[in-house]
Order: sequence, then structure tokens, then C-alpha cells
Amino acid sequence: MSDAHRAYRDELLQHGLLISMGVDGLYGRSPVFEQIVGGIDHAFSRAAGADGAETMRFPPGIGKAQLEQSGYLKSSPQLVGTVHSFMGLDRDHRAMIETLEKGGDWTAGQKTTQVALTPATCYAVYPVMAARGPLAEAGGLVDVRGYCFRHEPSIDPARLQMFRQREHVRLGTEAQALDFRALWIERAQTIIGSFGLPFEVDVANDPFFGRTGKLLATSQREDALKFELLVPITSNEAPTACASFNYHRDLFGRTWGVRTAAGEVAHTACVGFGLERITLALLKHHGFVPAKWPAKVRDALGL
Ligand code: ATP
Ligand code: ZN
Repeated sequence: MSDAHRAYRDELLQHGLLISMGVDGLYGRSPVFEQIVGGIDHAFSRAAGADGAETMRFPPGIGKAQLEQSGYLKSSPQLVGTVHSFMGLDRDHRAMIETLEKGGDWTAGQKTTQVALTPATCYAVYPVMAARGPLAEAGGLVDVRGYCFRHEPSIDPARLQMFRQREHVRLGTEAQALDFRALWIERAQTIIGSFGLPFEVDVANDPFFGRTGKLLATSQREDALKFELLVPITSNEAPTACASFNYHRDLFGRTWGVRTAAGEVAHTACVGFGLERITLALLKHHGFVPAKWPAKVRDALGL
């Protein structure tokens, strides 16, 4: 498996689609790569067309306090990234440079800032929506897109440390959240099918940490809270999750204090497309030159 990962990564680097930055899971992207990402984004927007989602764009960070409140530190501490910075005096600075020059751990004197790296694009949305007060009768629907960080270094080009998600986030009643998710499970299959990619949809779980994590993962599967759309990229036996469809029940509603128009705790759901993973799937199945892709696929991507 890891041979197939390395081989595909090397091919992408050789063709200049990814640009090495010297760290596994951290790459630059070529204009062709970005054009494909733009195409996927376009197809997503087109499918969502008349839904009337409110667009929000956030930087790739959330407040450290928001990360703490989200519960992510409990479920997935191994993936978290926090931003640290130097906050010392001249003397501390000299000591830091000395340590650096000796090859020591110059980061020891760094302190955490108020910023953490975004683990999932929808995390910025819940506190913003909660702060507005009760939702309207129709609930809330938010369109987000941005970079996420997850500390999972890998030579698999589909497992990046910094990658983009395009998401729609639904907040409202249980029925509104579930209807939204069902709609997107169908839509996503139409979109990915229009890209000429093979896929399957399956129930899934988040990579929860530790022993309690195993229990959380089992009950998440039993309750069918998470579905994934999987596309074979480097392996047919272990296809890659390219989109996910998540129903959080009232977890985020309770966590953030999001209320429905009727004053109940809101239920939430999100659909997330992995923009790099779908790009990598397209490059794998149709070749490295989008100009030579089937006309129908180019059309679906608006290329
Ligand atoms: P996996 O099980 O592969 O770790 P996940 O279940 O953690 O993925 P989600 O949290 O559901 O993924 O994220 C939504 C989408 O973001 C995924 O379906 C995938 O397309 C993309 N994604 C997740 N992790 C990565 C990553 N490390 N590199 C690139 N894309 C990713
Ligand atoms: Zn989400």
C-alpha cells in the first residue's frame, strides 16, 4: 500500500502537479491542480444552486477557546494543531537563537497564541450561528470553504496535513438536518458520477483517539451518523473517502447553544467535499492532462 502511495506521490511531483515543500503532507499546487480544484468547487456550487445557502469564508484558523469548546480535544487530540509564538524579551531571544544554532529545541520558549488551526471547515460556523440567537423557521444553511490542518503526516498524497474542504452546514430541526443529509448523499453521487469516477457510499466513523475513541467510533457507526463517498485512488481494496455526510444530532447545538425558532436545541449536519482528494482521483482516473479528459467530465467541471 505505502509503495502505491509513494509511487503516485512521486508521479505527481514529477509532473509538477504537486510541489515538494520538504514535509510529508505539505505541498504546493500547480495551476493545473488549482484549475481542477476550481472545477470541483464550481460543480458543487452548481448542484447547490437554488438552496440559498449563506456564504461565509474564514481564515484557516479558529479561536483557541472555540477549539476547546468544540470537544475536538477530547475526541481527536492527535490531529490538533495550535499556533505558538515567541513572546519573550531580548534575553530570551538571544537564548532562543543560541539554542537554534546548536540544533536544540528552539520552540521550548514559545507560548500558545489565541489561534488554533482549523480541523474541519464547519467548526467556524457553529459559534457564529449560535451568537446570532435562535434560527429562523427555515433553519440555517451555510456554505464554507477553506484550509484544514490535521497532524497526520503521510506519504499518501491523499492524506495531507493541510487541505481544503468545501462544505454545506445545516442547522435546524432533526428533520431539516436529516433531509439535508439525505439530499446531499444523492447529490454527491450525481456529481462524482458526472466526473467519470467510480465510487461507493458507506457508513463510516471519525478517527477518534484512544480506547474511549473505539467506543465512540462503534456507536457512531451503529447509529449511522457518518457516511462517506469513497473513490479508489491508489487502491481498489481500500478506496479513499472523498466526501463525507455527517449528522451530529444535537451535539453541536448543545455545545454551542444553537436554538431553533421554536426554542429547541438545534440539530446539525454537514456535507464536506475533500477538494484535493477529488482532484487526485480525477488525475488518477483520467490522466495528468485535463485537456485530454473526456468532454463530459470537462463539462461537468466547467473546464
Ligand atoms: P479519513 O477517514 O480518510 O481520515 P475523515 O473521515 O477524517 O477522513 P472528514 O473529517 O469527514 O474525513 O473530512 C471530510 C473530507 O475531508 C473527507 O471526506 C476527505 O475528502 C477530506 N479529508 C479528510 N482528511 C484529509 C486529509 N488528511 N487529506 C486530504 N483530505 C482529507
Ligand atoms: Zn463538517
